[in-house]
Amino acid sequence: MADCIFCKIARGEIASTKVHEDELVVAFRDINPQAPTHVVLIPRRHVASLDALVQADDAIIGHLVRTAAEIAQKERIAGLGYRLVSNCGPAAGQSVEHVHFHLLGGRSMRWPPG
Ligand code: AMP
Repeated sequence: MADCIFCKIARGEIASTKVHEDELVVAFRDINPQAPTHVVLIPRRHVASLDALVQADDAIIGHLVRTAAEIAQKERIAGLGYRLVSNCGPAAGQSVEHVHFHLLGGRSMRWPPG
């Protein structure tokens, strides 16, 4: 999508610190990190949110989740434990309308998050 900030990051039109990219997904460091490691993972395909996913996205999202686990290993946060979360809609605080997953780690995190 032309004016989507995450599509622009995926295309390299906006600067970001990418930690992974392949034909399906892109992962980059969050500009406002909420943990020592805070990586945002997106599918290259523009999908507005979890609610807009279709069956054809199953393989992409599966690949994204497995990629998140691989990044957690590389970032050395897997031992302590990490969180993978996707905010969907205004009550959850979704601020960018391109489905994305936050990979958070490097500190202890309470649950439920509140
Ligand atoms: P959410 O609030 O769940 O929609 O998450 C959107 C995330 O994108 C926030 O954590 C922002 O800090 C992050 N973000 C927004 N713009 C950028 C950017 N240009 N580069 C990296 N992260 C960004």
